[in-house]
Amino acid sequence: MIDYNDLSLGLSIAAFLVCMSDLIFTMLDRRIRKPQNKIYILMLFLLSANAVCGIVAFLAEKTKIISDAAFRTLTVSRYIYFVTHSLLAPIFFFYISFVVGRSINWNVRHAQHKSTRVFWLDVLMGVSLGAMELMVIFNPLLHWTWYFDQARDFRRAGGEILIYVQSAVWLGASFVLVMRSWNILSKNRKHSFAVCYMLVIMGILIQMLFGRIYIEVLMEALGFTGVLFFVENEDDRRDVELDVYNTAAFSLDVSAALKNDIPVQLIIVRDIRFNRTANPTLLGKTNNSALQRTVADYLGTKIKKYYIYNIGQGCFALTIYDKAEEKAAAVAAEIAERFRKPWSIGKTDIFLKASVILIALPERAGNIADVFYIAQCPIPEKFRGKVMQGDDLDWIIRYAAVESAVTRGLKEGSFEVYYQPTYHIDKKIYGAEALLRMHDKELGNIYPDEFIPIAEKIGIIDEIDDFVLRQVCRLLATGVPQKYGVGHINVNLSVMECMKEGFADHIVSIAEDSGVDKHDISFEITESVAAKDYRHLEEVIEKLKTAGFMFYIDDFGTGYSNINALFSLGADVIKIDKSVLWGAEQSELGMVLLKSTIEMVRGMHKKTLAEGVETEQQIQILKNLGCDYLQGYYFSKPVPEETFLSVIHAKTG
Ligand code: C2E
Ligand code: CA
Ligand code: CA
Repeated sequence: MIDYNDLSLGLSIAAFLVCMSDLIFTMLDRRIRKPQNKIYILMLFLLSANAVCGIVAFLAEKTKIISDAAFRTLTVSRYIYFVTHSLLAPIFFFYISFVVGRSINWNVRHAQHKSTRVFWLDVLMGVSLGAMELMVIFNPLLHWTWYFDQARDFRRAGGEILIYVQSAVWLGASFVLVMRSWNILSKNRKHSFAVCYMLVIMGILIQMLFGRIYIEVLMEALGFTGVLFFVENEDDRRDVELDVYNTAAFSLDVSAALKNDIPVQLIIVRDIRFNRTANPTLLGKTNNSALQRTVADYLGTKIKKYYIYNIGQGCFALTIYDKAEEKAAAVAAEIAERFRKPWSIGKTDIFLKASVILIALPERAGNIADVFYIAQCPIPEKFRGKVMQGDDLDWIIRYAAVESAVTRGLKEGSFEVYYQPTYHIDKKIYGAEALLRMHDKELGNIYPDEFIPIAEKIGIIDEIDDFVLRQVCRLLATGVPQKYGVGHINVNLSVMECMKEGFADHIVSIAEDSGVDKHDISFEITESVAAKDYRHLEEVIEKLKTAGFMFYIDDFGTGYSNINALFSLGADVIKIDKSVLWGAEQSELGMVLLKSTIEMVRGMHKKTLAEGVETEQQIQILKNLGCDYLQGYYFSKPVPEETFLSVIHAKTG
């Protein structure tokens, strides 16, 4: 026959030993940083207390009849057992709550962001926990949960069932949390929770079926050991070298915050690199990692290390779970400021550069993909050196989206050349301007004012301008526009391209390859651009004019260029900017400006073309002032090739 009491003693001792080794391991490994770790240690302490109570109760049980001291010890150990054991399930719930990111920090309450239903559920559970705990604590007076009868035999009272029900509810609730967060738990964590639940449930079942086998505590201790190795152990989340968390941990934690409606402010410190250094040999790889570590250590002085993630080479993310946005903004500003001062790495003082972005979640990004998108998207020059936040982010997001759309644009055929006809002052067809349009699969229509500067920046403007020129040549090669009275088609040129070596020859060869008459093509260059390097530009224009092309100065009246130099460029036509025309209708001064501009151009023996003509009245003004050509919505908007041909066809009859 098995002596059940002896078996229970063995089980209690085993449970105690397991708890102790878990505790020692936790302490040695110094896994005591986060609230989650602290709760885990608390659970181990409670469980060890349970085990000790089991051992003591067993020993006191034998002599309780003859010894009052033994009986008192037994009573006390029972009392401690009940008080501590009833707390386990609720505390386990809170533990899980931290693990799945539903709770983040002791002092971060996110009740405001929870639905009222969830809030009242929390209150209900809290109140019932309090009531149960009071019942257990005052049990020596009330005897509602357990007592010793006259014969000093242990008796369970009705209240005990409440403890079981309560524990079952907390366990169930923790299980629901695990299930809800299934996608944001790593595989190891899922497995260890599954095993832990199984062990605990088995322990409870065995103890319920065989009342005298005290196996529950041991099973729980075993379950917690699994948790120790797979949940508390964060090797898979850590960046060992920098002693911060890694990218995988970042995406899990941020996903958890988003899922649990916990507001979080992300500070991204990225593009950390050498700025100036006295010693160029410092640029080696080893020093680069020393540099990353120095920055990581500095960041660790601003915020607890377990809120810092290394999410790429030279890129850190800090999570701030504090609703006060100003606080995160202040930290971000301090970090940006720090990069203005030298860092001492090894024995050398060096300067580092970095960009700092502050992203408020969930306002600015609703999922982890968006977070990475913002964190990695290229930062335009104008934002360098300041903390990017708030509406800046919309700007960079749009910019990055357009940038990638432009990059893939030529390959995906997103570009299309539109044409806007130009007219003689008597409304007879004169020519046309080729204007580029872009239609992206994802972003829809994008206008040149947005994509041209980007194309210039990423260096594909020359390919784009070539594309336009080839399209225009192709159209002209059909001879159809000429047949309808289109004297020439204007192509806009980017200055960047004009200034390149061999530009003129390149243009000439494209035109010659297509076999069109070079007199059918004109080029437009903007006034402000023309203002930059006249000498070189003059040469280019000279070459193109000699080849047979015509030349227009675009947007005249918007810049502050040297008018003498501008006219010496040898342009054939000056395009007066639409703002000058529109200004003439608004004020007398505007009218004077338009009038004198036209007179001046005429005085230089050049032609004027007025842009932005939208009304008959404007045409009358321009006619009176002696303007030569017209372009604007009054006649036609820029339209696709087909439409353009039918417009000019209709015009010429
Ligand atoms: P731009 O060369 O000054 O082109 C004239 C702009 O005024 C065009 O805008 C045209 O649609 C618009 N416009 C014409 N008539 C009217 C009017 O009556 N009312 C109003 N409100 N607007 C009128 P778009 O097509 O958006 O082009 C903007 C700028 O983008 C152009 O200014 C040009 O600098 C640049 N761009 C367009 N296509 C190309 C191209 O193929 N290559 C290069 N390098 N730049 C281009
Ligand atoms: Ca133009
Ligand atoms: Ca213009």
